[in-house]
Amino acid sequence: MDKFKAREKIKKHIRSQGKTEDFEVTHTLIYYWWNLLNYAIFDSILEYPKKVTIRNIKDQKGACFPLKEGFVGLQMDKEFDNKEQFIEVLVHEMVHAYQWQVEGKMTHGKTFFKWKPKISQQLKLPFGRFVEVQ
Ligand SMILES: [Zn+2]
Repeated sequence: MDKFKAREKIKKHIRSQGKTEDFEVTHTLIYYWWNLLNYAIFDSILEYPKKVTIRNIKDQKGACFPLKEGFVGLQMDKEFDNKEQFIEVLVHEMVHAYQWQVEGKMTHGKTFFKWKPKISQQLKLPFGRFVEVQ
């Protein structure tokens, strides 16, 4: 599968299942989507998080924490409004993982929003709507 097919696969999933509310957030689900999005959007350069936690997070849907040597820790909420929101939040956290791994800094500034055109065009996915309170 090439990158373009991977993007088509993601878009198709969002079109057909984006509104699905009934799904369980599991480590397997996060692993699957991390890898597919990593390939489709980040040229597979992102290291998988050292630690992935699924729990009820107050006031936000996901979080990304800097760890040693460019690695990150990832937290995902147990509940999402729908599948599209889950993917949207995961991409958001993946941009933070990219920032930390490649640029050494996590922000919601320019290096965050420079991803918006790519994500909107290539995945037809909203970007930057759920900015965490930090
Ligand atoms: Zn953020």
